[in-house]
Amino acid sequence: MLHLYNTATKRKESFTTQTPGKVGMYNCGPTVYSRLTIGNHRTYVFADILRRTLEYLGYEVRQVMNITDVGHLTMTDEDKKKQGDIEITDTDDGLDRMEKAAAKENKTVWEVAEYYTERFIEDIEALGIKMPHVLPRATGHIREQIDMISTLIDKGYAYVTESAVYFDTSKFKGYGELAGQELDEKMVAVRTDVEKDETKRNPFDFRLWQLNQPDHSMQWDSPWGRGYPGWHIECSAMSLAYLEQPIDIHTGGTDHIPVHHTNEIAQAEAATGEQFVRFWMHGAFLRVDGKRMGKSLGNAYTLDDLAEKGIDPLSLRYFFLAAHYRQILNFTWEALLAADARRKTIRDAVVTWLAHAKRAEKAPESFKTDFTSALEDDLNMPKALAVVSDLLDADLDPAAKLAAMEDFDTVLGIVGWESLRKFTPEEIETIEEKLRNRELARNNKQYEEADAIRAELLNTFGVIAEDGAAGHAWRYAGESGQ
Ligand SMILES: [Zn+2]
Repeated sequence: MLHLYNTATKRKESFTTQTPGKVGMYNCGPTVYSRLTIGNHRTYVFADILRRTLEYLGYEVRQVMNITDVGHLTMTDEDKKKQGDIEITDTDDGLDRMEKAAAKENKTVWEVAEYYTERFIEDIEALGIKMPHVLPRATGHIREQIDMISTLIDKGYAYVTESAVYFDTSKFKGYGELAGQELDEKMVAVRTDVEKDETKRNPFDFRLWQLNQPDHSMQWDSPWGRGYPGWHIECSAMSLAYLEQPIDIHTGGTDHIPVHHTNEIAQAEAATGEQFVRFWMHGAFLRVDGKRMGKSLGNAYTLDDLAEKGIDPLSLRYFFLAAHYRQILNFTWEALLAADARRKTIRDAVVTWLAHAKRAEKAPESFKTDFTSALEDDLNMPKALAVVSDLLDADLDPAAKLAAMEDFDTVLGIVGWESLRKFTPEEIETIEEKLRNRELARNNKQYEEADAIRAELLNTFGVIAEDGAAGHAWRYAGESGQ
């Protein structure tokens, strides 16, 4: 029985779906104005593990992730620093980062959005993240957003001023329930850091449609005048355009709780009069060297920084899985290198099993049972990885280990199977012939000869001869070197 932690109820609940066997899932996606950081990637890997777990457990999943390609006014890193760890990612004042990136890179905002959308897709592929079934872009769904804003005005939940169409938070009963007391912290942030628009009725009221910004590059006609949508409305409008309401699962980073998701709920439920989402799930932050990560702090690493150090993105994925998704995780290069070494050890073992598996074998059922119950316990991936360690250490036929790992890796996605069949049947024959020669030399007490063969196997094939090992007489150690 799958149990997931629901931010809305603040406890682990047994998971049920609106339609038996089917899951509709929406993940808040990237704003495409720069290369995504490893902090962003942690959230997407979490969403991917959630999807793969649901599929492993037999659900048919429909996954939708938005691409925010409209520029919005956002708080700067400097502003965020002042707030410490309370992340408020969208405010009514600040900088439009897409416009800023376009000016800096001498591109149009459209080109910036296109370029970084492509980089995002490359990144998630490198991280072994399955492609969502739909990746809707905000600019492709202006009509849906305008329709929802019109409904909100008609129902008395929104009002038009000279600067914007605002959502009236005082009209929506239960505004801020998702965030609970975090709203008090948000209140402080609103008071200290945000210049108020005088046309706004209540401090939490937020923009649905921005008006009178003639310098903004992206503009559309609307019943209220030319302008562009607020950030939050795209997720309410697009999630309901592609998924049935109530949506089974909606995810994002914990920074989305006090503002973005709070506002998404208000918009969607005010417009439809029905529950928006059944399970809200949030991934915790990634810190770097014990500090907050930020572009201005110079520690907002991307996959390029990993490439420079020759580290496979799948090792970052392994690093993420070694902590529970609701725990703040501290990134250090040392910790990543340790994860990289561990993942290589697993790969080496798989190469060995592939070469030794002679016939189909199954691992004892207890491995699958343990692995599944780790997943069902609110995606306890550290526990799932412990089952993989048990599998590596177990005294089992290589074919049985291989079958179990193939099964587990449909969720974990850490092995990278493409390049794993390192040896042709001819090479395996050569290796085994050399091992027989070595055995013969040892039996004849020709130890120099035996050592020479051992060294040759290591240098030529990355293979270590194992004396008296269960299941196989040699193992591959070419990647981990041990
Ligand atoms: Zn969103």
